Amino acid sequence: MNRKIYSYVLAGLLSGVAFSTFGQHLDSFKRKRPNIVFIFSDDHAYQAISAYGNTLAQTPNIDRIANEGVILKNQLVTNSICGPSRATLLTGKYSHKNGFKTNENPNFDLNQAIFTKELQKAGYNTAWVGKWHLGTLPTEALNYFKILPGQGHYYNPDFIHNNGDTVRHEGYVTDVITTFAKEFIEQQETDKPFFLVVGHKATHREWMPDIQDLGAFDSVNFPIPETFYDDYEGREAAKDQDMTIDKTMVLRQDLKVGQVFKGRYTPAQEKALSDYYSKISKEFAEKKLEGKELVEWKYQRYLRDYLSTAKSLDRNVGELLDYLDESGLAENTVVIYASDQGFYLGEHGWFDKRFIYEESLKTPFVLRYPGVVKPGSDLQNLILNIDWAPTVLDLAGATIPSDIQGSSFLPLLVNNEDSVQWRDAGYYHYYEFPQPHRVHPHFGIRTDRYKLVRFYGELNNWELFDLQKDPNELSNVIDHPDYRAVRESLRGKVRELILKYEDKEAEEVLRAAGEI
Ligand code: CA
Repeated sequence: MNRKIYSYVLAGLLSGVAFSTFGQHLDSFKRKRPNIVFIFSDDHAYQAISAYGNTLAQTPNIDRIANEGVILKNQLVTNSICGPSRATLLTGKYSHKNGFKTNENPNFDLNQAIFTKELQKAGYNTAWVGKWHLGTLPTEALNYFKILPGQGHYYNPDFIHNNGDTVRHEGYVTDVITTFAKEFIEQQETDKPFFLVVGHKATHREWMPDIQDLGAFDSVNFPIPETFYDDYEGREAAKDQDMTIDKTMVLRQDLKVGQVFKGRYTPAQEKALSDYYSKISKEFAEKKLEGKELVEWKYQRYLRDYLSTAKSLDRNVGELLDYLDESGLAENTVVIYASDQGFYLGEHGWFDKRFIYEESLKTPFVLRYPGVVKPGSDLQNLILNIDWAPTVLDLAGATIPSDIQGSSFLPLLVNNEDSVQWRDAGYYHYYEFPQPHRVHPHFGIRTDRYKLVRFYGELNNWELFDLQKDPNELSNVIDHPDYRAVRESLRGKVRELILKYEDKEAEEVLRAAGEI
């Protein structure tokens, strides 16, 4: 038996074991293991996706995945920033376990247990195209890659290829990445399933739209979020951050006022970008805005660039879905669309992410698996990004290593939700401080109704929110007598999860304060 056939048979046997709990679906799983395409964008807020009930912009292609599959309504991340979210996807572990706590980490340790290696063992061809943002090249962990160095560029980006060469590719980054994804799929042998991450740079700062989308939202006046003028009363960390549209967002760098487009652009790109943004810069200069008018102008410009950048993202999702249809692969390919975390679109006056508050804690996640996941379903359970690796392994019928901290949520999709035991609280821990946005380190939990947070380091305090009564998280009720019992019960839960996940740093914070 040659190696390929052996691994196929072995994986088939394993899948039989792994899926034995799924009853009626067992036969279809054993017949043919699915390909898995994980479209993984950056900083794409659920508030910017129409499937999540938002009306800021239409995202028909992401919505299509939701309509033909499942939408996760409470998909939380465990540390709301870019690099750490990718490290968690790759390991199924919290940052304190995989060692990648902040974006300032130079290199991710790929010698640890990476779940794509398990997929390879199960006979999958594994690949990643686009944004990687983890330093170390994934030579061992992936069979194929074409990745952006660091954050990469929106226009004519460089990519590091499998052989280590760095090559510049002309075009807009989201289009180029989709082309690479299709090229990879086209190269696949028919008897070997694949796992492909399509890692997008969009919609990361500084939100550079494709030429064809420039001005797509210029006639729209976006509503000012309810919490836009938040005074942060009762929330010290929120008061102390440096991520407001008012003070932190930079007119030239972020909103392209007075920006000169030179360097890596083609003459046609240079002209289109210069024409568009010089007109805006001129209007801005004439208006001489101040105070409230100035910050609201910045907000409108921010959303217009952000959503124009997202427009290309959604279009490219559609292109990939069409490609799967045309190539006959759609039926046996799981398609996932997710962002590495959520993002603030003016809520609390902010852009960026990091906080455990809803907009950055939650991230969009939709999944389509024809014949297995019921079209148009939604999942309300608290899913964490540590669950992504085991879920993909489960889909592939591969072994889930016992030290992975998350759980496959596939049983929730294929069985009756009530028959599956699931967590009642999601644990979170954020570290990066003070740069770049002065968000104090914190850990905490989110249940279906409450959120309890512990800030530490320069700060030393707790916050408690009743999301049912206060969905905007404006009222910290930590000292409110009505919430004494809730507070104590949630503190117990925090302690329990710190021990369960072996978060020594958080344990030490509580120990030093006599709280554990
Ligand atoms: Ca990100």
